[in-house]
Amino acid sequence: MKKRVAIIGAGPSGLAQLRAFQSAAAKGAEIPDLVCFEKQADWGGMWNYTWRTGTDEHGEPVHGSMYRYLWSNGPKECLEFADYTFEEHFGKPIASYPPREVLWDYIKGRVEKAGVRSHIRFNTVVRNVSFDDATRQFTVTVHDFDRDVAYSETFDYVVNACGHFSTPNAPTFPGFDSFKGRILHAHDFRDAMEFRGKDILLIGSSYSAEDIGSQCYKYGARSITSCYRTQPMGYQWPPSWEEKPLLEYVNGNTAFFADGSTRKIDAIILCTGYKHHFPFLPDSLRLRTNNRLWPLNLYKGVFWEDNPQMIYLGMQDLWYSFNMFDAQAWYVRDVILGRLALPSREAMHAEDLAWRAREEKLVTNQEMFEFQGSYIQELIDATDYPSFDIAGVNRTFLEWKHDKHENIMAYRNKSYRSLMTGTQSPPHHTPWIKALDDSMEAYLGEPAPIAKAG
Ligand SMILES: Cc1cc2nc3c(=O)[nH]c(=O)nc-3n(C[C@H](O)[C@H](O)[C@H](O)COP(=O)(O)OP(=O)(O)OC[C@H]3O[C@@H](n4cnc5c(N)ncnc54)[C@H](O)[C@@H]3O)c2cc1C
Repeated sequence: MKKRVAIIGAGPSGLAQLRAFQSAAAKGAEIPDLVCFEKQADWGGMWNYTWRTGTDEHGEPVHGSMYRYLWSNGPKECLEFADYTFEEHFGKPIASYPPREVLWDYIKGRVEKAGVRSHIRFNTVVRNVSFDDATRQFTVTVHDFDRDVAYSETFDYVVNACGHFSTPNAPTFPGFDSFKGRILHAHDFRDAMEFRGKDILLIGSSYSAEDIGSQCYKYGARSITSCYRTQPMGYQWPPSWEEKPLLEYVNGNTAFFADGSTRKIDAIILCTGYKHHFPFLPDSLRLRTNNRLWPLNLYKGVFWEDNPQMIYLGMQDLWYSFNMFDAQAWYVRDVILGRLALPSREAMHAEDLAWRAREEKLVTNQEMFEFQGSYIQELIDATDYPSFDIAGVNRTFLEWKHDKHENIMAYRNKSYRSLMTGTQSPPHHTPWIKALDDSMEAYLGEPAPIAKAG
């Protein structure tokens, strides 16, 4: 009997798994039956924008955390697929920080070419996974919203590719209950125009705070105050943006900070991160981790050591993204196809602990992306995923960090060389701060004509 593989989620990770198997099949391999369950109506995961917040049309928690006008927050050259370049997709080199819609189009292009859509059951949420020690098979229970039926099927492998930037970590602060403005988590932020002319407070000092604050600045917020628990982001913010130590409490519309300072605010956005949340998994199969570069108990960052038929993709904190999911998916594929063997549980765990020990010593950003790069290198050395210049990607990350420190509101005007094709990307036609239309048409087309006065 053919083996059966369930893939949970058709975001970049789940799609990488489908593409990995399809690529082996195209070279003549016998591949297992693949069923990908996707709770949304379309593919692309986080990159498939939704205006919805809270619950979706089926009463499920909304998956999407992306917002309007979002542009890639790192150079596209660092995430490029090694088997499907931007140049191949767009037919020309494009600038380095594409808006969400452009990246979504790119993600879709590869899987459309691969013809893997028929493996995906859309509008189908995975509700429960269990494992039978006797048969060594999983039972996956799902709800198909189109037919409004629940059903179960058995599988030999489960690949959990459901992402980990959807369930908000949302702390509370004294005075929130009686705050006079709006309080929301970054997960529910959709349109910076809502905060035009407003004084906003961002809690947190990571990518969400940096980018949501930049969006709000760009689209006309009156002032931005961001506050941090451990350390400030440290960029040269525009005059209307101030960084403060952590919020202590709010009273009416006034925020009080740990350094004794205060600030009048209209809205609070919690940029306090996300939880790895897998309500459909039993404790025995469930990864429990904070967001970090080496979550424990995953051999090669993917195989659940207590039961390596349970697989996780993309669960690491991300410097690398799409091409890391690919490296993982190709490795997983080759284990499932019997091309690569897994060592004993003890050996897997020992290797896992050695990676964790390395991770715990990392201090600088450079050490962190080089660490993730070396992990990816190890995976791709073992499979036929096209080898690419990881040292070059690391150099691009370094340049990007430098560019951000030079000017946080202008780094997206820079462009870099593709590590896959060698082509230098052109500069974008309009500086990011002035490019208010984030549509694919506007991005790939000519600069917008300057509006006539009058
Ligand atoms: C605001 C924001 C900005 C980001 N910006 C960037 C960026 O600029 N560059 C970058 O590289 N990365 C960025 N990321 C990271 C982004 O998450 C990854 O690029 C990528 O989307 C991760 O892919 P994934 O497939 O692992 O998860 P996701 O993209 O989250 O996809 C998971 C899929 O699983 C589905 N799913 C979840 N639960 C179930 C279930 N129970 N049953 C069935 N289906 C389910 C979801 O509907 C979704 O389609 C950003 C993330 C956020 C939140």
